[in-house]
Amino acid sequence: MSATTADLEDARTDTDVEHHEVIVVGAGFSGIGAAIKLDEAGIRDWLVLEAADGVGGTWHWNTYPGVAVDIPSFSYQFSFAQRTDWSRTYAPGSELKRYAEDLVEAAGIRDRMRFGCLVEGAAWDEATTRWRVRLADGTELTATYLLNASGVLTTPKAPDIPGIEDFAGTTVHTARWDHDLDLTGKRVGVIGTGASAVQLIPEIAPVVDELTVFQRTPIWCFPKPDAALPGPLRLAMRLPGVKQGLRLASQAFVEVTFPIAAHFHSYVRIASTMEHAGRLWLRSQVRDPEVREKLTPSYGVGCKRPSFHNDYLATYNLPQVHLETDAITEVVPEGIRTRGSDGESLHELDVLVLATGFRVMEPDSLPTFPLVGADGGTVQQFWAEHRVQAYQGVSVPGFPNFFTVFGPYGYIGGSYFHLIETQVRHIVRCLEHARSTGAARVEVTQKANDAYLASMLERRPTQVFWQESCTGANSYYFDQHGDVGLRPGTTLGTMWASRTFPLDAYTFQPARDREPAATG
Ligand code: NAP
Repeated sequence: MSATTADLEDARTDTDVEHHEVIVVGAGFSGIGAAIKLDEAGIRDWLVLEAADGVGGTWHWNTYPGVAVDIPSFSYQFSFAQRTDWSRTYAPGSELKRYAEDLVEAAGIRDRMRFGCLVEGAAWDEATTRWRVRLADGTELTATYLLNASGVLTTPKAPDIPGIEDFAGTTVHTARWDHDLDLTGKRVGVIGTGASAVQLIPEIAPVVDELTVFQRTPIWCFPKPDAALPGPLRLAMRLPGVKQGLRLASQAFVEVTFPIAAHFHSYVRIASTMEHAGRLWLRSQVRDPEVREKLTPSYGVGCKRPSFHNDYLATYNLPQVHLETDAITEVVPEGIRTRGSDGESLHELDVLVLATGFRVMEPDSLPTFPLVGADGGTVQQFWAEHRVQAYQGVSVPGFPNFFTVFGPYGYIGGSYFHLIETQVRHIVRCLEHARSTGAARVEVTQKANDAYLASMLERRPTQVFWQESCTGANSYYFDQHGDVGLRPGTTLGTMWASRTFPLDAYTFQPARDREPAATG
């Protein structure tokens, strides 16, 4: 009898295919943090697969003029690798990229990272209790555990505007900036007014001949307490307790202005105070009342992600900068056509900048590759059919030995570093327990998942997203089901949960007989 394809594939798994205990997808801060913590736990047979040719994720890909973080640097870093030499209160993107490089060097983990490897798909193989991971070049690898660290603001999105491919000038997306592109003296159009545009626009406005910003929904923009960190302060940060104190203060600021304002909106009306402050700031920055009116959001603060910049709004005072709020009808070779109450207009352009963001909360964007589970369906289909859900934002029933750093109802909306640390702690607890009990198959129970989802839905009415004022926000927070997969909670709450979630939320099974192993 000749061997079936499946037999051949199984034979290949045992002999030829490269296998690791853990494959981590992504060498951004999530992947780096996971790799460091896996090593610390004594789990050393891991491999990071990264599509780019370097580490840093977001900060590798996003290099547009003005790119910087808008969470203070004191809390936008790992608690276990705190720097004392940030140049500013809000680090520029290049410094964050360097931070990623330094973490990898200091931990000595680069030799277990493979670059230029785009993961194209992964499928659970019940017969071998392994994940089969397929790369774009056709290579297949296997892993006992698959850890998704591919991020959430990963795949750039082009706008769904007719003719977008027909533009005869140069088109560039903020997330794939072309540093050979010289905008001096050019007629430039920017589509989008999200966080990327807010940082880019003030940088390019002084050099261009004409800048037209095509705005669909205005963004709430607040001043940013961004300042150079003087040498003496950086020296003082080396004294015992100083950097920790600054981190604590910065974390408290982020906590109040992001998660607490958003999730406990019904109790603490911080959002309306921020709205008032936002209007005052706008009035102080923009001279023309008509332009000011156009820049004023009609939705409440927090319904979509606000932005922070000291020069963005004032840029609209410059004579060469125009704010266009008429709807875009099409892109043509010469530029952009819009239609408003005064009729149609053609905006002739040399360069078109797409500041149109990423595919977020779309069924097939998380993870960035199809993930086939135990029943042969993908996690993307599961979420599309049953709403997004993941136990503590980490694991999904039917997808054994799969964990994700950024899953539905995992992120509270504060610093990503805090998210990475809590989610990785959760994952490492599972892997350590599996090791100590000899388990080879780890799966979250349906019961634990259902209870967690129910608790998220039960707690969400206090969030800002469900207020009447959010209807006009056009926010990527909302998915196709109208759900917002942000975790209603606090930093302390999520830290506590990652340390104390009951291990019997999972089944731990040995490889062969699948008898459940004892839980701790
Ligand atoms: P974004 O927030 O999704 O903004 C995309 C912009 O493009 C929006 O203004 C959107 O308008 C507009 N747009 C999309 N399709 C359009 C169309 N067909 N016609 C007209 N306008 C269209 O993207 P982003 O600015 O790149 O930011 C994404 C996220 O990245 C942020 O929310 C933030 O989380 C992160 N980020 C962080 C930083 C930082 O920390 N400093 C910097 C940049 C980005 P609508 O609002 O009407 O949809």
